[in-house]
Amino acid sequence: MNILLYILITIATFTSMEVITWLTHKYVMHGFLWYLHEDHHQPKYPHAFEKNDAFFVIFAIPSILLLYYGLIPSLNYLFFIGLGIFFYGASYFLIHDVLIHQRFKWFKNTKNKYLIGLRKAHKVHHKHLDKQEGECFGMLFVPKKYHNTFKK
Ligand SMILES: [Zn+2]
Ligand SMILES: [Zn+2]
Ligand SMILES: [Zn+2]
Repeated sequence: MNILLYILITIATFTSMEVITWLTHKYVMHGFLWYLHEDHHQPKYPHAFEKNDAFFVIFAIPSILLLYYGLIPSLNYLFFIGLGIFFYGASYFLIHDVLIHQRFKWFKNTKNKYLIGLRKAHKVHHKHLDKQEGECFGMLFVPKKYHNTFKK
């Protein structure tokens, strides 16, 4: 295998993770694991850690296993699947937890239209305080209409 293929696997995994996250968010977090996600939908975040953070651990496990077995007995494609999941988790954290929910005050005053669109779309998701209704379950890719609606 060559480098190009490794890069492609990493990108493909990263992209698939958005789909998996969308499905997990819609059908698992807003489904049978709602009790873990529920506190994240409360208007204020009273705790430094949320039960919702359990999902980071849940996604970290396959990533770590893939990175591990991707090095044994020698470097193989599993490593790059693990890497794709890891990059996605890091992006998710930066976008969702830092940019949107301001758990760290890093890029508070961004002027980037795409990032502002993401933030607005996710606020729409958070308008629904209960499990049943909901929209905007994606994270890095949101429907264009949300970028347009909030242009002004
Ligand atoms: Zn949600
Ligand atoms: Zn959120
Ligand atoms: Zn949410």
